[in-house]
Amino acid sequence: MEIFKNFIDGEWVDSLGKDVFENINPADTREPLGAFPRSRAEDVEAAVSAATKAYTRWRLVPPPKRGEILWRAAELLRARKEELAREMTREMGKVLEEARGDVQEAMDMAFYMAGEGRRLFGQTTTSELPNKFCMSVRAPLGTCGLITPWNFPMAIPAWKMMPALICGNTMVLKPAEDAPLSAWHLVKILEEAGVPRGVVNLVHGFGEEAGAPLVRAEGVKAVSFTGSVPVGREVAQACAGSFKRLCLEMGGKNVIVVMDDARLDLAVEGAVWGAFGTTGQRCTASSRIVVHKAVYREFSERLVERAQRLKLGNGLDPTVQVGPLINEAQLRTVARYVEMGRAEGAQLLCGGHRVSDGEKAHGWFFAPTVFGDCQPSMRIAQEEIFGPVVTLIPCDDFDQAMEIANHVVYGLSSAIYTRDVNKAFRALRDMETGICYVNAPTIGAETHLPFGGTKQSGNGHREASTAALDFYSEWKSIYIDYSDRLQRAQIDT
Ligand code: ADP
Repeated sequence: MEIFKNFIDGEWVDSLGKDVFENINPADTREPLGAFPRSRAEDVEAAVSAATKAYTRWRLVPPPKRGEILWRAAELLRARKEELAREMTREMGKVLEEARGDVQEAMDMAFYMAGEGRRLFGQTTTSELPNKFCMSVRAPLGTCGLITPWNFPMAIPAWKMMPALICGNTMVLKPAEDAPLSAWHLVKILEEAGVPRGVVNLVHGFGEEAGAPLVRAEGVKAVSFTGSVPVGREVAQACAGSFKRLCLEMGGKNVIVVMDDARLDLAVEGAVWGAFGTTGQRCTASSRIVVHKAVYREFSERLVERAQRLKLGNGLDPTVQVGPLINEAQLRTVARYVEMGRAEGAQLLCGGHRVSDGEKAHGWFFAPTVFGDCQPSMRIAQEEIFGPVVTLIPCDDFDQAMEIANHVVYGLSSAIYTRDVNKAFRALRDMETGICYVNAPTIGAETHLPFGGTKQSGNGHREASTAALDFYSEWKSIYIDYSDRLQRAQIDT
């Protein structure tokens, strides 16, 4: 089995303890993809110290030069897209077409942030005093600790690394233990693109053992975390003591509202993609569908018919539409929610069971599942499941749909299908989520728009777009007095 390493201070190294963990294909657990260092606090410390040392030089590299490195990384991602996508499908199961999209997203972010090297705009403004010049500029933060999940194993690390780099920060990435290979490839590409020694460090390992020490490390000035709410809460508590800047991207219980005037074929197609794309393992997955009662029956019949026809299997097979769940624990969680849904009185319309015929016996496959006639307060309609399970909730009218849509602790993404422009705009105003769609499902974020959610989906920060620059830089306000005398703001009026 191939042995992969950490990347610390420009060297590929084993963990100090020499322990490793295996990366396994969730579509066929007989297939290992490699062994990765099981790092601990001492490895994290070495990486943080390398990053902190490298920061003294990297912060002074002109941003357009930093941008040239990102541009080269983007070109390498483009050249290797197919090979990287195949490796990604093997390590975490998403179908090849989606894995290509994941690499594309990393590439888009690299190109986009490369361009930011020649912008990184601040403001120039007036002064209340004569002969005085005012402006604000972006200053980097220092070493950033980046902790990422497995569901977008290249895109999410890139979403954090590219803006952090262009702003002049150094970093330690701790990728998810279920998909370390894609992050490894990304770091390898950044090395090849010319990122100087120590600027990007990669430490593999488990959450408690490697993630937690990274969050706590004194040298880390900012933490960006994408993952579950309970871990996000722990990370926030660990950061609070030293007032570390923190960006949290957590769960969702995203809704599609289907009004009685919607184009039903489009709504069904959107629901299938939103609910079952990436096997429902997206924080923006469409996991609730609130349907106007006038079209409820027809919508649910068509959705069930489509869900039952989805082909499960190994994502490398181009005819497969739905890959496996990431691991056995997730399979059990999904099965538990299905039991819960039944016990709560929801109507199981299709799926609800593991699929293990033929080759699928060696993977974590679960049938696309639709629950009908759900009450908004049921746990399956309230809690994030992170699997191919969607709940249908009938509603009487638009106002009730909005009430149901907002009646969850999450606020990541929402969507409405309607042909009534007034309803569309009212929904865009009233849905309490960071991302809203009209006539499209809840997934499909693009890199140049802010990404993130309200309520328990985040902590108010946004990733991607120029919003990411706001997280990875600090405003510095600058006043230059060329009057040759002491001028006092607010006093010499
Ligand atoms: P998911 O359910 O998507 O796997 P987690 O929140 O469990 O989400 O994991 C997301 C990332 O956070 C992973 O890289 C994981 O290793 C890391 N992690 C888990 N526990 C901790 C922790 N206590 N401190 C820091 N990072 C952690």
